[in-house]
Amino acid sequence: MSVVFEKMALIGVGLIGSSIAQAARQRGVVNHISIATRRQETLEEARSINIGDSYTTEAKKAVADADLVILCTPVGAFENVMKQIAPALKRGAVLTDVGSVKGHVHKVVGPLVPAGVDFVPGHPMAGTEYSGPLAGFPSLFEGRWCILTPEADIAPKAVENLSAFWRALGSDVELMDSAHHDLVVAITSHVPHLVAYNIVGTVDDMETVSKSEVIKFSAGGFRDFTRIAASDPVMWRDVFLTNRDAVLEMLGRFLEDLSVLQRAIRVGDGVALEALFTRTRAIRRSIIDAGQETAAPDFGRTQSHEDEKDTKS
Ligand code: NAP
Repeated sequence: MSVVFEKMALIGVGLIGSSIAQAARQRGVVNHISIATRRQETLEEARSINIGDSYTTEAKKAVADADLVILCTPVGAFENVMKQIAPALKRGAVLTDVGSVKGHVHKVVGPLVPAGVDFVPGHPMAGTEYSGPLAGFPSLFEGRWCILTPEADIAPKAVENLSAFWRALGSDVELMDSAHHDLVVAITSHVPHLVAYNIVGTVDDMETVSKSEVIKFSAGGFRDFTRIAASDPVMWRDVFLTNRDAVLEMLGRFLEDLSVLQRAIRVGDGVALEALFTRTRAIRRSIIDAGQETAAPDFGRTQSHEDEKDTKS
């Protein structure tokens, strides 16, 4: 595969940063990978699996001469990180991020981008519930979507190059307006995570069913929620704090629909229940047909990374 960017700097090297480094190296998409992370301990973890060419705890050192800079920390840290790196960014560099929320990123990062640097926000729609450099793996982005949300005045060449980068990592790329992105992920990812955090929290608070019973008799439904609810607390705190409006909009719709279901159960409206469950089964079928999930029992989630991978975002 041909080199798309000469030097790439990753600011943050958790699950996503580490997976980008491994995929980019494996596919020869960049010549130099510079890794920056806040804590020495995380840096040593990244170094131990040899995913970069240079390592530092100083973000501004990592971005010097970089042609591609990717912010891979939780969204809540972007503003602070940008203040550190902005003066050191190279003219002509492409700056992007992997944050799960895009409107907020435009708002806080946009004004800090120096002249001559092209800012193309991005969101790879791939992840797992694990964190840190050791959780990364090179096939994470294969067959997944990466959404880019550049402003209209960004140089087309920058968007083309970043799209080529993500395609080389195995992703399909779609361009989208940031507000629309935030609504789409609010309902496809953020509200489902909130529901999972809530249901697992409710079970944890219950007194009539003991914790050992919950663990012992944990059937498919609850077990799948616990996997989602094991996702990184800091990352998800930031998602809900920064995508507030879209999440509240979708949560309102969700609660209205839940009330309709509650009433159907109360009045014994089996026709309504069956009609909904038939419709939703068809949606799962179309997700499998689109290659975004496996039809294997138990969601195919056993031991391998391939199975671990989901459409978290
Ligand atoms: P992660 O595994 O928890 O790694 C986080 C990285 O950010 C680490 O290098 C950590 O550094 C650094 N970091 C954390 N807090 C920081 C702070 N306050 N200031 C500076 N650096 C900080 O996270 P991740 O799952 O890779 O997620 C990273 C980004 O990807 C997030 O913006 C998230 O929204 C997005 N994303 C995640 C997923 C997913 O499923 N996980 C999917 C799509 C997009 P130290 O360890 O050195 O402190």
